Amino acid sequence: MSSQSKGHSSASQARLAAQIKSSEETPQELSGDTLWGDKFGPEIQHEKDGNINALQRHRYITFRNYHASSQLRDVSGNLLNTEEELREVVQEEIAIREGDHTSSENSKDRLLSLNAKYWTLSQEWWRWRSGLAHGFQSRGFELWRSHPKWYMHRDLIEECAGRQGCCARACGCCVNRDIDDSRTLGAGHCTLECGCCERARGFKVSNEEKKRLEELYKIDKQAEDKGSDFHSLRISRLSIWGLVGDSRKDPFDMIDAKPSYEEMPKNNKRLDRLLWIL
Ligand SMILES: [Zn+2]
Ligand SMILES: [Zn+2]
Ligand SMILES: [Zn+2]
Repeated sequence: MSSQSKGHSSASQARLAAQIKSSEETPQELSGDTLWGDKFGPEIQHEKDGNINALQRHRYITFRNYHASSQLRDVSGNLLNTEEELREVVQEEIAIREGDHTSSENSKDRLLSLNAKYWTLSQEWWRWRSGLAHGFQSRGFELWRSHPKWYMHRDLIEECAGRQGCCARACGCCVNRDIDDSRTLGAGHCTLECGCCERARGFKVSNEEKKRLEELYKIDKQAEDKGSDFHSLRISRLSIWGLVGDSRKDPFDMIDAKPSYEEMPKNNKRLDRLLWIL
């Protein structure tokens, strides 16, 4: 067992144990009927060691090496961009409920169209989720997303704060946002639709400016693949795998959220099960 794994919290080990249990039928060695993405060798050893950082690094590097030599597209950027749009919908809905909506459109009509938009975006979300590479990428994503507050990773908090989102203030909106069970795909940090951010800013961002900023922050996998965009690389590595360069810490120990997932009530909604493997 490596020295890093000794300090891992029992909660993150429980997350790992749940994932191992769900794939315990997996053959442990390479054989004639092994498919790409099947678990074997080093991955199994990292699981046994309980070293989640090494495990996720191994999965990430194996996926990247394979991806570099294949014609298949890495759709994780599409997934993250869809999640940003889902957050926009959810945050605008909250802003309307809180009376911050200033559009000329009737609030009730706007809520109806946002409800339809959320539905369409959740269809898109599943399209990209099911397009993650079988095996290494899927297992890496499932393990990291098994924590319902994965987005409260310190580096993602820093990203929100850097963009003057609620994490730059003491309001606590990102960790406590009032999201009901039908909107869990829209959980996360502030978008330009956050009503609290708009109040703090003191003005509404114009549609033209919104478009420009959204384009600027969009996850661009093609740019990432060419090595020309470290923003996309950093955010997608964090959001899909829980990994940060230069850190060998357990990704779950980098989450700054209370209550811990051990104290959270278990949620039985269908998408939560798919997403969190509770
Ligand atoms: Zn706030
Ligand atoms: Zn905000
Ligand atoms: Zn935030």
